[in-house]
Amino acid sequence: MTTQVLLDVRDVRRSFPKPGGGELLVLENVDLALNQGEIVGLLGRSGSGKSTLLRLISGLASPQGGTLNYLGAPIDGPPQGIAMVFQSFALFPWLTVLENVQLGLEALHIPPQEIRTRALAAIDLIGLDGYENAYPRELSGGMRQRVGFARALVVHPNILLMDEPFSALDVLTAENLRTDLIELWSDGRMPIKGMILVTHNIEEAVLMCDRVLLFSTNPGRVAGEIKIDIPRPRDRTDPRFEAYVDRIYTEMTARQRAQRAERGTGPNVLLNHVSPNSVSGLIEAVAAPPYNGKADLPDIASDLQMEVDELFPVAEALQILRLGDIEGGDIKLSHMGKRFAEAELNERKEIFSRALMSHVALAAHIRRVLDERANHTAPKRRFIDELEDHMTEDAAEETLRAVVSWARFGELFSYDDETEQFSLENPA
Ligand code: ADP
Ligand code: MG
Repeated sequence: MTTQVLLDVRDVRRSFPKPGGGELLVLENVDLALNQGEIVGLLGRSGSGKSTLLRLISGLASPQGGTLNYLGAPIDGPPQGIAMVFQSFALFPWLTVLENVQLGLEALHIPPQEIRTRALAAIDLIGLDGYENAYPRELSGGMRQRVGFARALVVHPNILLMDEPFSALDVLTAENLRTDLIELWSDGRMPIKGMILVTHNIEEAVLMCDRVLLFSTNPGRVAGEIKIDIPRPRDRTDPRFEAYVDRIYTEMTARQRAQRAERGTGPNVLLNHVSPNSVSGLIEAVAAPPYNGKADLPDIASDLQMEVDELFPVAEALQILRLGDIEGGDIKLSHMGKRFAEAELNERKEIFSRALMSHVALAAHIRRVLDERANHTAPKRRFIDELEDHMTEDAAEETLRAVVSWARFGELFSYDDETEQFSLENPA
C-alpha cells in the first residue's frame, strides 16, 4: 500500500503591504507535505509566518506564488475536510457547548438529527460528557479548548490544523489535553488522517510529532526537518526525548547565528527588545553553579522557566553584545560576560556601554549624532525614518525600543518618552 499524500505545499510565497509602502515578505519558498498517519510540527518563533501558512492551507487566504494541493486538487477557498483549532479557542459565548460544536456542521447540509448525534459523539470523545448544556464562561480554559477540538473533529476532517492550541493553557491542563489527544490519535479513535501542529514549544513538538519542521524568520521558510523516532506514548524523561530536544535547540540556534551573520551588523539590523534585566538574569544564571559559565540551553530554559520564544531573544542579545556565545546548543559566557556577572552595578553599566559602542552599530550611530550636535539632542523621527527604509514600522519601533533600554542601562544616552527626543544629559 502506498502512503496517501494528504497535503502538498510547494514553493509558497506570501507578502503583505507595509503601511509605509512596499511589501513585507512573510513566507518564501515554503515546502511542506503531510502524509496519511502523520503529525507534523511547525516550530518557529512568533512572527515567522506559521499562522499565515495555516490560513493558506485552510483556504482562508491565498498565496502570491506556489501551489497548495489537498488530496491532489488545488486549494481555492476553504476545503471540506480541513479543520482548525485556535489558540484563543474562538467559541461563541452565547452558545452552549453543544451548540458551539454543532455549528461546525451547519454549513454541511446534514439532517438535524445527525448533527446532534455527531456533536454528542464528538463531545463524548474529547471528554466533555455532561457539559453539553454549559456555556463557555462556565468552563475552565482546558475545557473550553476541548470544545474547540470537538468543534473541529465533528466535521470528521481528514486534516486537523492546530495553531498553538495549548499555549493559552496552564502547564498541567495543557499536558492533560496533549496526552488525551495523543491517546485518541494512537488508538485511531479520532476521525482524522493527519495533523499539523504549530508551536513555539520544542518539547511539545518532540512529545507529539512524527516530524518537526523548523521554521526560520524573515522571511518564514522551512529551514530544517527532524524526524522524531520514538514510539508512543513518549516519556519526557526518556534519554532519547532529551536528545531530540537538545538537537532541535542546537539547530535552531545555529541557524539564528548564521542568519545574523548574513544580515550583518550595520545600524539597520532588526533588534528584538530585550530588557537589560533579562540579559543580566541570564548571565547570572549561566555564571552560577552548577553551570559556572557554560550551560545547556534546554537546561537553563527550564531553570529560568522560559520558553524558546522568550529565551532565544535574550540569548541573541547576549551574543550581539558579545557577552556570551551560543554553540552546539550550549550558551557560554565570554570573558566580558564573566566579568559582568561578578561586577557591581556601576561596572556592569560600563561593560554594557562599551559593548553597545563596539557591537551595536545603531547605538554607536545615535551616540555619534548626539555628540556632533551642538545641543546634543535629536528627535526619534530622525532614526525611525532611517530604520524604516530597511524594515517595517513595527520592527523599527521595536529596534529603537531595544536600543533605548540598553543605552539607558549603559548610560550611553537618554531618551524622553514624552518629547520623543534623544539627549546626552542623564536625567538621573
Ligand atoms: P506567527 O504565527 O509565526 O507568529 P504570523 O503568520 O501571525 O506569524 O505573522 C507573520 C508576519 O506577517 C507578522 O509580521 C505579521 O505582522 C504579518 N501579518 C500576518 N497577517 C497579516 C495581515 N493580514 N496583514 C499584514 N501583515 C500581516
Ligand atoms: Mg501565530
